[in-house]
Amino acid sequence: MTNRVGIGVDVHPFENGRELNLAGINWPNETGLAGHSDGDVVAHACADALLSAAGLGDLGSNFGTDKPEWKGASGTKLLAAAAKIVKDAGWKIDNVAVQLIGNKPKIGARRTEAEKALSDAVGSPVSLGATTTDGLGLTGRGEGLAAIAHALINR
Ligand code: MG
Repeated sequence: MTNRVGIGVDVHPFENGRELNLAGINWPNETGLAGHSDGDVVAHACADALLSAAGLGDLGSNFGTDKPEWKGASGTKLLAAAAKIVKDAGWKIDNVAVQLIGNKPKIGARRTEAEKALSDAVGSPVSLGATTTDGLGLTGRGEGLAAIAHALINR
């Protein structure tokens, strides 16, 4: 059996007046994220990690701004599409681990719901954690959110 690991990182700025869709679920009364799609940094980092593990490019090369049909696509739609690309290339997805970096929202109360949405999109377990940067950097200043993910695949 061959195992491969991949990495994905994503960052989006907050944008007033947009809904927050994050980690595959909607967060009422929170500031949304700007982006070509819905700005779901968690789902995007997971998708990039999967493509990275399989050596099949990245989100930009598969769903970038030169592919207008993906404009406004939900994070889970992009994540499911990335997982399909990886599976269609003959890989099985072991798991994805992702960490959100930012001040808010606090994910604890909705972690199970978010993990289910992400896992359903991937078809394998996705675990979600979160941290802050103690006020440092763009996430610490509340300018946006970041996420980092690893994926493990095999065949
Ligand atoms: Mg993104």
